[in-house]
Amino acid sequence: MGGADARGAGLVTAHEHDCDTRTLSRRSPSGIVLWVVAALVRKVLAPLAPPGCFACGASAGAAAPLCSSCRDGLGWLSDEVVELEGPGAPAIEAWAPLAYRGGARALARALKFRGAVELTETMAAQIAALAPPGALDRGELVPVPLHPTRRRRRGFNQAERLAGSLGTRTGLTVADCLERTGPRGTQMGRDRDERLAALAGAVRVRRGASAPREAILVDDVLTTGATMLACSRALRSAGSERVVAVAYARTPGR
Ligand SMILES: [Zn+2]
Repeated sequence: MGGADARGAGLVTAHEHDCDTRTLSRRSPSGIVLWVVAALVRKVLAPLAPPGCFACGASAGAAAPLCSSCRDGLGWLSDEVVELEGPGAPAIEAWAPLAYRGGARALARALKFRGAVELTETMAAQIAALAPPGALDRGELVPVPLHPTRRRRRGFNQAERLAGSLGTRTGLTVADCLERTGPRGTQMGRDRDERLAALAGAVRVRRGASAPREAILVDDVLTTGATMLACSRALRSAGSERVVAVAYARTPGR
């Protein structure tokens, strides 16, 4: 299987620790000076220090993004495929190796919000090694697009990075052919129907790009499936005959 190797796969060698700015306001003036000095020292020494666990901050060894305790707590899912259903497109089969909680959630968030793009190597290794038979043996990898405003702000699209790493591991081509259009609305706080409505028509195949005949949508996290379904609709209307989806983690019950 190679599953155990993949689960232990950790290719991260260094990352920055969060600066705990929240504690600043509670300190005395001399405490603040000491805090600033300590922060500077930490910054200078960070490359020399062993990296900490992305989930809990404990020592994680030289090459692992998670400590052994957080690794043990990962919610591995079976190779069961879930069906994403919504109006306007055939259901699509989706799969993810991990439940979106604990260490998996920490890694997904570190990738997205802390720019830890090297984590896509670990994520891709786990997806590639544990994917159900047939899930990654044909087709082209299509990253779920970010809205241009968000992409500019973040500097990268995490799904695109993940698809790139997955392409390297599987030999599959990456077809970055989708784009988001329309006003940017946050997904948070919306229920599933609202998300579906908001996304209808908000994803399309880029001008000049073509939709692969067989597409494997790639995203970091699968929650309601609304985004995947919107992507699938766009791909199918542009000629894709088969669309499936993979993600690094998915919310339970999905
Ligand atoms: Zn940990």
